[in-house]
Amino acid sequence: MNKIQMVDLRSQYEKIREEVNAGIQEVIDTTSFIKGGKVVDFQKDLEKYLNVKHVIPVANGTDALQIALMVLDLKPGDEVILPTFTFIATAEVVALLGLTPVLVDVEYDTFNISIDSLKKAITPKTKAIVPVHLFGQNANMDAILEIAKENNLFVVEDACQSIGSEYIFKDGLKMHSGCMGEIGCTSFFPSKNLGCFGDGGAIFTNNDELAARIRATANHGMVVRYYHDFVGVNSRLDSIQAAVLEVKLKHLDEYIANRQFAASYYNKAFSNNKKLITPGLNTNSTHVFHQYTLKLVDVDRAELIKHLESKGIPAMIYYPVPLHLQKAYQDERYGQGAFPVAEKLCESVVSLPMHTELTFEQLEFITKSVLEFVG
Ligand SMILES: *Cc1c(COP(=O)(O)O)cnc(C)c1O
Repeated sequence: MNKIQMVDLRSQYEKIREEVNAGIQEVIDTTSFIKGGKVVDFQKDLEKYLNVKHVIPVANGTDALQIALMVLDLKPGDEVILPTFTFIATAEVVALLGLTPVLVDVEYDTFNISIDSLKKAITPKTKAIVPVHLFGQNANMDAILEIAKENNLFVVEDACQSIGSEYIFKDGLKMHSGCMGEIGCTSFFPSKNLGCFGDGGAIFTNNDELAARIRATANHGMVVRYYHDFVGVNSRLDSIQAAVLEVKLKHLDEYIANRQFAASYYNKAFSNNKKLITPGLNTNSTHVFHQYTLKLVDVDRAELIKHLESKGIPAMIYYPVPLHLQKAYQDERYGQGAFPVAEKLCESVVSLPMHTELTFEQLEFITKSVLEFVG
């Protein structure tokens, strides 16, 4: 049995080695390293895959979120609502831009932003909502878009973990994760569901004006060469990463299917155990399982992780501390107990190995080892 890893990028690479190497070699041979043909090719392929009008490649997912918030003409002190149970980048960019992050709780079942909590957080200063489609499953976009419309708010989706996931609206309309709000953001960090061999990210929008503004903002605020209409940043996807992504995008659906297979194996193995709560599914969304995250009930998490480690099985805690209890984000508005669901999740979640290359044998060994400890 191969060594079990949280993410097995090596085995995945072996299967597409020739194609990826040829793509990278082509970039080197043409020395078109920045804004080369490969970046445009990948952009077009991704627009087609997502059925979205504009994909704007950038340097990473955090930049994508920052640039998205830079183009909305927000003013210092404007409030941006986001869930407290997420990766820090979501809040970081809000704080960096002098906007006010307003944190809200999440749903116990799906880990995604709580609609009740969101409704209560809206004030006259609220300008935008950043739902995070955590672990690969879309948040309740029917409700979020409705609330946004009623209150005249922008929706910027953090789709860094959910590329390829689809949302099915109440009226039956199907849309890709990241393509439902005004702007969507994703990351191509190597371990993400569509990962490159370094850093990368992209912004999605169906709005032509926003797309033009995003392109300019990612390129020093430049519309005509050396004429700067906005304060911008320098954020680019490079051609070598685009070459890798162009190949991997062709395999994304197959990669998703592999993750879903592993998740259903885990679900089946754990479904009858009262101490293990398998991930709750939103019936309006497909789940692309960036992470497979269990909630533990009356199980010593640290000891479980030690037990798994002793068998060569890695396990991780995503995330151990909610944003409102992070040192850098301490705020008199929120103390311990402010968001009980997120706090409970941080104490009880554990994520098992999840990637595209998990074998039957590995899955059997992982589930057996978990159940052996939990009893
Ligand atoms: C990975 C991630 C980001 C940041 O992406 P980078 O490419 O690492 O900058 C932002 N939000 C979420 C939810 C993520 O998982």
